[in-house]
Amino acid sequence: MFNLEHFGKRPIIAVDPFFGAAMSNRSFAFFLCLFFVGACSASLCETGRKQSPIDIRDSKKQKMPELIFDYHAESLKLANDGHTVRVRFKDAGQLSIGQQHYALQQFHFHTPGGDRIAGEEFPMAAHILHKSTSGQLLAVVVLFRLGAENPLLARVFNRIPERRDGDHVFASEPISAWDLVPKNHGHFRYSGSLTASPCTEGVEWIVLKQPLELSVAQLELYKRKFADNIRGPRALNQRVVLESQ
Ligand SMILES: [Zn+2]
Repeated sequence: MFNLEHFGKRPIIAVDPFFGAAMSNRSFAFFLCLFFVGACSASLCETGRKQSPIDIRDSKKQKMPELIFDYHAESLKLANDGHTVRVRFKDAGQLSIGQQHYALQQFHFHTPGGDRIAGEEFPMAAHILHKSTSGQLLAVVVLFRLGAENPLLARVFNRIPERRDGDHVFASEPISAWDLVPKNHGHFRYSGSLTASPCTEGVEWIVLKQPLELSVAQLELYKRKFADNIRGPRALNQRVVLESQ
């Protein structure tokens, strides 16, 4: 699976909120497009047929393997990447779905939520990212509605660094992505893409149906630091969204 982070510690055309880098050199990207016309990744964002996010209006209910979240706590490590706050994990467990295992990599946030359910746009979403040993990427989407303060978000948002200055580690602050997972694991599943350039497809998306809550003050705190960072829903095209029973 294509992942720009594999090309070195400092990606040159860096990328997506999905993987953590920031768009840092547009002219270099343009240069690449000139020389690799057919493979110009920027165009996939416009021409791709399996893009994310989507508005989930129709789905096909079926029996699907349970989502087994086997996450555990690790020292909090977070960074302001200029687009969002990103909490990274090194060895903090995995998500298992049937025979497939996906190692937990990181989570980050989007405003608004990106994926919609029956037209409903959520004010925020967390994307929990995973990767299997074969390189398959999988994103779990946790949607938020306004309501009570969220304890995990309080811990993370109060520590957002002022600048894009790399990872900050809080050794005495263990954190687990489990605290981001709603009780009910009912979900939708579809084949999608990175949500920003290069919009690489072949990413598995799992959208949990049960939203969590965050307070107005928490949303405002986040939005004071970051501009909206996700595009609107893309066309479903021929894709079928599966829904767990
Ligand atoms: Zn994301």
